[in-house]
Amino acid sequence: MSSPNEAVVEDRPQQKKKKTSLYADHVKAYPRYLNKGAFRQVKWLAMAAFFLIYWGGSWLRWDRGVGAPDQAILIDLPGRRAYFFFIEIWPQEVYYLTGLLIIAALTLFFVSALFGRVWCGFGCWQTLYTDLFVWVEEVFQGGRRERMLLDNAPWSFNKLWRKVATHASWLVISVLVGYGFVAYFDNVPTLTRNLLTGQASGTAYGAMALIGGFCYLLAGYAREQVCIYMCPYSRFQSAMFDEHSMIVSYEAWRGEPRGGLKGSIRGRQPDEVFSGRGHCVDCKMCVQVCPTGIDIRNGSQLACIGCALCVDACNSVMDRLGLPRGLISYDSVYNQQARSVGDTSTRTKILRPRVFVYVAVISLVASVMTYTLATRKTYDINVLHERAPVYVEIAGNRIRNGYTVKILNMVRAEGHYRLTLEGLEPATMAVIGVDGEDLKAVELTVPADSVGTFRIFVTAPRASLKDKKTDLTLAVANLDTGKVVRHENFFAGPDQE
Ligand code: SF4
Ligand code: SF4
Repeated sequence: MSSPNEAVVEDRPQQKKKKTSLYADHVKAYPRYLNKGAFRQVKWLAMAAFFLIYWGGSWLRWDRGVGAPDQAILIDLPGRRAYFFFIEIWPQEVYYLTGLLIIAALTLFFVSALFGRVWCGFGCWQTLYTDLFVWVEEVFQGGRRERMLLDNAPWSFNKLWRKVATHASWLVISVLVGYGFVAYFDNVPTLTRNLLTGQASGTAYGAMALIGGFCYLLAGYAREQVCIYMCPYSRFQSAMFDEHSMIVSYEAWRGEPRGGLKGSIRGRQPDEVFSGRGHCVDCKMCVQVCPTGIDIRNGSQLACIGCALCVDACNSVMDRLGLPRGLISYDSVYNQQARSVGDTSTRTKILRPRVFVYVAVISLVASVMTYTLATRKTYDINVLHERAPVYVEIAGNRIRNGYTVKILNMVRAEGHYRLTLEGLEPATMAVIGVDGEDLKAVELTVPADSVGTFRIFVTAPRASLKDKKTDLTLAVANLDTGKVVRHENFFAGPDQE
């Protein structure tokens, strides 16, 4: 006897299995370029500021004295040094970079808690480059509708020249973006001349091509897909929001039920026209201007980068209809909910526990970095005990160990140092290139801004050794400042019976 469930299965019509793809087809977005509106102006200003800093930063000069590069911001890879105005970072101080990245991440969290995805909408180079590329498209191919028609039209001279002009302009921008990047890795006036005369290194041309190529692909083709699928920040940014964070959203309580306008509204009052219906006239201007092609009326979405261009678009529609602005607004959920019940007072709280936590942690990390920068060493030492052989027995029943001592002079003046031994009282030393043997102290000189390498031999009577390994400290005193840096090492000898 069949079970009721089996009977149901038998009664179903036989369906042909359809092969479904796990991936949605990409639908190209054709953003409408709206030139008016407060947020559009802010975006233009942000773009101008970004490009001014990006291309202008490498041309700033900073006097560091004779023989030192005078570029204010420079990553000198051959010289293994990074310069940022008065700060000079050596390779072993790369932890400053870690500190800077931590501060940058925390600042991003802090700004997100207050203003939502303002970084994505107005600060991120991907959205700024994309915005610039869309503007170029608009210049050569026309508005949204013209671009869609052109893409669907068969190839013609008109289509060809417009496409060629667009891509040529994109390439010029991409080359400039690549140039802006490599400019921070060499003296920019020399580099510019060498690039233009074909005398720059292959690495410089390669780096320019790589960065420029990424710009061309990401801003020209990938566009919103970078924000939606590639950027990790969009995945976790909502964790930083609360009801007081500023976000872009549609006020459904006011806009619904939406619908097109029937008949002319000329001479009619808005109250009469919109009686019994919502204020959204379903014009889709908010969708058309959206660079990621989403409909914000469907609620907050991962793909919304918070650029607020839909706010400008909807406000312009509301103005034309004589309705209050803000059907789509850049505001906190808290305020929007208050407005939905007729409360128009602003209640967004700036000072909230999470804001205090971010400020406290940023201040802490910045203080630690400032302190370590202010009190950083002007020199450092590195000692390597020779391994082959670890020790040798020499005449007079004495043991000798070899060491390589490196003194990093991190200032732009010759450094004078005194090397002494601590922990093994009868030990003496000799330094290759320095007169004298059985010395208790040796004076060493290291040229400005360089590393001095010294090979030293430490000798001790076999009878003074108690073990196979005896602790030995090499102390290097800076004779100019009086500071002492110690390095703990060991002195090796034979087994003691
Ligand atoms: S722009 Fe405003 S009125 Fe037009 S569809 Fe969008 S929300 Fe509705
Ligand atoms: S929905 Fe509005 S704020 Fe979000 S990305 Fe689109 S235009 Fe920008």
